[in-house]
Amino acid sequence: MTVRPAFTLGILGSGQLGRMIAIAAAELGIPSHIYAPDASTSPAGQVAAHVHTAEYQDAEALAEFAAGVEAVVCEFENVPASALAILAELVPVSPGAKALQTAQSRQAEKTLARELGIAVPDFWPVASAAELADALVVLDGPGILKTDRMGYDGKGQIRLDSRAAAGEIWQQMGGVPCVLERLVDFSAEISFLVARDAAGQLSHFPASQNSHQDGILARSVAPADCAETLLAEGRQAVSRLAEALQLVGVLAMESFVTATGQLLFNEIAPRPHNSFHWTIEGCATSQFTQLVRVLAGMGFGATDMDRGWQMVNLLGQDMDQVAGHLARPHRRVHLYGKTEARPGRKMGHVSWPI
Ligand code: AMP
Repeated sequence: MTVRPAFTLGILGSGQLGRMIAIAAAELGIPSHIYAPDASTSPAGQVAAHVHTAEYQDAEALAEFAAGVEAVVCEFENVPASALAILAELVPVSPGAKALQTAQSRQAEKTLARELGIAVPDFWPVASAAELADALVVLDGPGILKTDRMGYDGKGQIRLDSRAAAGEIWQQMGGVPCVLERLVDFSAEISFLVARDAAGQLSHFPASQNSHQDGILARSVAPADCAETLLAEGRQAVSRLAEALQLVGVLAMESFVTATGQLLFNEIAPRPHNSFHWTIEGCATSQFTQLVRVLAGMGFGATDMDRGWQMVNLLGQDMDQVAGHLARPHRRVHLYGKTEARPGRKMGHVSWPI
C-alpha cells in the first residue's frame, strides 16, 4: 500500500533559496513540490520530489498545486498578488500577504519601519521628474535613487547628488516610481534574521556582517563584530517588523551601522537570506531547516554557534575559483546547478570556519 507523506511542502519559485529549502525539508523526511514557470530544469526543481511547471497567473494549475501540499512557502518576494490570493484561500502560505506586499515596495517597507520607531535613512518617494527635482533640493548632498519595486542585487539603483539633472535621471530609471535616499556613511552592514511561527513565537539567529561589491553581497561573517547594544536593537527591530507583518516563516533585515554608531534600517526580505547561508554549517539549525520546522509545526531548533563562520558568494565570473575552494578540505562548496554562468549571477557559495 502506498501512503501519501504526512506533510508535503509546496515551494513557489525555483531558485537557489527554493533548492536549499527543499534540501533541508528532505533531511526531515519532507518531500517538496516546486511550482514555477521553469520548474523542471531549475535549481530547486533538480532536488525536489515533484515539480509543477506553470505560469504564476494560471489559476487552475495553482489550485491543483495547492491540493497536493500542506503549506506553501514563497522563495522570492515578488510573487504576483493574484497567485497569492488563490493559494491563500486553499492552504497556509508563508510568509503571508502583508509581509510580501510590504517587502515588494521600498517605500512600504521603509514607511513601516519608521512607523515602528526604527531609525531609517532620510528618504523621499518620487513619482515624477518634477517630484525628483524637488526631493533633490531637500536632499542637498549625496544620495541613491532606487526603483520602488523589483530592485535586487544593486539593480535598479543609481548614485547621484543634489546637483543631478532630474529629467535625465528620471528617464534613465525608466520613469517608474522610485525612492530617493540619503547616502549613508556607514562603517558596517549588518543583517538580522528571525523565525516566527504561527503562534507568534520568535527565534533569532546570530547577526551577520556583510560586504558588498557592485551592490551584490560578496561576503558574510558571523557573529557580527558590533556592540551588543546595537545587536540588541537590531533584534528588537526585526522582531517588531515580523510581528507587525504577522509573518510566519523567516524575516531578514539589512541595516547599516553609521560612522557615528547608529543602526539604520535598509530593507527586509521575508524569506531565507544570502547573508545567512553560513548557517547551513555554522549554526545548530540552518535558516532553511528552521523555516521548514516552522511550516511543518516541528518547533524551533537551537540557533547557537560554536565558532565564527564566513561565507563568500560564487558569482558567474568566480567559477574559476571553484577548484581552489574544493581543494581546501574544510571549505564547504555549494553549487546551485545553474548551467549558464553570467557575470553577477549567483552560482553558488562557499563557507568555512574563521
Ligand atoms: P539595497 O538594494 O538597498 O540592499 O542596496 C545594495 C547596497 O547598496 C547596500 O547593501 C549598500 O552597500 C548600498 N546602499 C544602499 N542604500 C544605501 C544608502 N542609503 N547609503 C549608502 N549605501 C547604500
